[in-house]
Amino acid sequence: MRCRIGVIAGDGIGPEIVREAVKVLDQVAVKYGHEFDYTELLLGGASIDVHGVPLTEETIQAAKACDAVLMGSIGGDAKTSPWYQLEPSRRPEAGLLGIRKALNLFANLRPAYLYEELRGACPLREDISAAGFDMLIMRELTGGLYFGARKTEVVDGVRTAVDTLSYNEQEIRRIAKRAFEIAMKRRRKVCSVDKANVLDSSRLWRKVVEEVAADYPQVELSHMYVDNCAMQLVMNPAQFDVILTENMFGDILSDEASMVTGSIGMLSSASLNDTRFGLYEPSHGSAPDIAGQDRANPIATILSAAMMLRYTFDLDKEADAVEAAVRQVLKEGFRTGDIRSEGCTCVGTAEMGSLIADRI
Ligand code: NAD
Repeated sequence: MRCRIGVIAGDGIGPEIVREAVKVLDQVAVKYGHEFDYTELLLGGASIDVHGVPLTEETIQAAKACDAVLMGSIGGDAKTSPWYQLEPSRRPEAGLLGIRKALNLFANLRPAYLYEELRGACPLREDISAAGFDMLIMRELTGGLYFGARKTEVVDGVRTAVDTLSYNEQEIRRIAKRAFEIAMKRRRKVCSVDKANVLDSSRLWRKVVEEVAADYPQVELSHMYVDNCAMQLVMNPAQFDVILTENMFGDILSDEASMVTGSIGMLSSASLNDTRFGLYEPSHGSAPDIAGQDRANPIATILSAAMMLRYTFDLDKEADAVEAAVRQVLKEGFRTGDIRSEGCTCVGTAEMGSLIADRI
């Protein structure tokens, strides 16, 4: 298969971790007979340094011409980097929001998987972590409270602020379809999270999700109120496969779910639109404190590349191979500094990438 992959190395540790993900992809290409064409794209601080702005039309058009984009991370140290002397709309993060909007990336996916070898980092009680967990949070990314009309005014002498939470059935249907499609590639369970006992938007959400579910009879659908879900994530995370939810609930729950894994350097993510296109990136930031020192953990980026193989290119076998290689390297006791534990072999960014590539 021939795949056009946009590559945004980005800032801080971005270039180091992306280099390792490309190393692993190149090994996949050799082993399975694919051709990956890479196009380097500028975003964030790296784009400010060259063009004075964090996102150019050229980057948007070049990204659109690719099948998928693999990204490191963008941004710098807000206290010391000159990028943060600029007005907010010209800072690195504005580039990320801009490209998500330009590419209509409405579905955000964040897996939370507990590796047996990293169980010690899990902050949950031992009897809970012993059961392990493997879930995927699917969050609506371009609607709801964060995008609704808002105002702050004085009403009868009292300061009053209003935010609007609105969803229409099309917005709900397109992400629900995505969630069911993805569940078909996993354990075929979708838990839709809402607050339908209080909110109209949640009642519509629930109705539309049920309508979509009718097209996927192999997938088991359940509903859960968001407050209960927040509790269940720490009491019994093993029960979840795909969690589908709206923007604000997903913002909070996806952070909670990822933090119970205990390892920020291991967390991948994807943002999808209604074509096969996706932007794949680690959940962590650009870690300027360790940039350029060969200390960053490249695994979140490597696992993001595996998501790209699975969700954009439908290369499930290849994605499985990357994930298995990561598990194998951990089993053999290799760790970067952020996930090290007694008795393990500590390696740098580049060596970790090579170890994983060698096991494809
Ligand atoms: P961060 O995730 O970059 O770092 C938090 C801590 O985790 C740091 O101590 C860092 O060294 C460590 N860390 C993060 N990733 C690691 C890895 N792969 N291996 C080992 N250690 C790792 O968060 P921050 O410090 O709050 O933000 C730094 C910059 O990143 C800021 O400019 C922020 O805006 C940006 N950021 C970008 C994205 C993105 O590109 N999507 C996301 C979050 C933050």
